[in-house]
Amino acid sequence: MTTKSLPIAFNRPHLTGREMLYIAEARAAQHLSGDGGFTKRCNAWLEEHLGCAKALLTHSCTAALEISALLLDITAGDEIIMPSYTFASTANAFVLRGAQPVFVDIREDTLNIDERLIEDAITPRTRAIVVVHYAGVGCEMDAILDIARRHGLKVVEDAAQGAMARYKGRPLGGIGDLGALSFHETKNLISGEGGALLVNDGRLGQRAEIIREKGTDRTRFFRGEVDKYTWQEVGSSYLPSDLLAAFLYAQLEDAESITAERLRIWNRYHELLAPLERTGQLRRPVIPAECEHNAHLYYVLMPQGVDRQGVLAKFRQNGIAAIFHYVPLHLSPAGRRYCRIHGDLRATTQSAERLIRLPLWHGLDIAAQERVAAVLGTVHN
Ligand SMILES: *Cc1c(COP(=O)(O)O)cnc(C)c1O
Repeated sequence: MTTKSLPIAFNRPHLTGREMLYIAEARAAQHLSGDGGFTKRCNAWLEEHLGCAKALLTHSCTAALEISALLLDITAGDEIIMPSYTFASTANAFVLRGAQPVFVDIREDTLNIDERLIEDAITPRTRAIVVVHYAGVGCEMDAILDIARRHGLKVVEDAAQGAMARYKGRPLGGIGDLGALSFHETKNLISGEGGALLVNDGRLGQRAEIIREKGTDRTRFFRGEVDKYTWQEVGSSYLPSDLLAAFLYAQLEDAESITAERLRIWNRYHELLAPLERTGQLRRPVIPAECEHNAHLYYVLMPQGVDRQGVLAKFRQNGIAAIFHYVPLHLSPAGRRYCRIHGDLRATTQSAERLIRLPLWHGLDIAAQERVAAVLGTVHN
């Protein structure tokens, strides 16, 4: 087999080298369940670096979104405005409470929710706006927060892809009332499965702790603030084991260098593909001036009418794992049943059909990136 045909994976989890050491420490401390020493260190790290009033590790971003829906007292009949171009969990967390997601279209440049379409979708039933920072590029948060303030709505950031990225200098996830991060294996900072709830409105902090701890005030009990703990309200078990927190802490310690390495690879793709954008063979990602992204993913948009399946097949023939992304939720079986759309979702549908994500992981070398670019260079209208 020649180097030319060696397979190129889509994602390869990056390890800092200290994960197993910290897991051994957690084991030695004999605290394997949630909220041990490493969970506390991770929470403190997130509070310090993301500027939130309280950070709480969860077992997933999905869990953090579910806590958000409980915390905001979302109930049957409520409406939640969000993009359709996202992962199922964004909508599912609110559907679990009986609410109806209302989808508005995305911007053609960033593929984030189009802030200009939100206000028109508001009804007397609207309770919250959920934004998704796609590819770690911030949504237009100032305009969104302004709409929310004027209409008395809450803002939840699905910042699953947004760790270490910023909007006007503010870390993603730390801008709305609540933020949800993911540390799933496919994200930038990982613990296999994992996530965090960022509570930016400090008044929600204590209830967030209760909901995350099976609806009990056990967290306050362990802090010595109450002499027994009891069932306080509806909640569930959203804590990760401290073994996973130990793994994650090694990643958080290297968050800056991991992000820098991903940005280096992202920028190399951006340079390699510039000539193909000039000749109209594809469109590269757009990063607004107010956003510092985190190189979570590199995607290209093929021109309208290009046979994407054919392009993906070409990647496969060359041993390269390039893949499409979301099937918009409004086109999915559950989305049709539980959600409604506001306006036409043309940018959502068209972008989703044209988009291809390229391999991007710590250590991906320039030769591999050149092979990826070469495949794209052979695609013509
Ligand atoms: C990955 C992802 C999630 C889910 O994260 P988990 O930690 O796997 O629950 C939710 N929303 C978006 C936008 C994601 O990219």
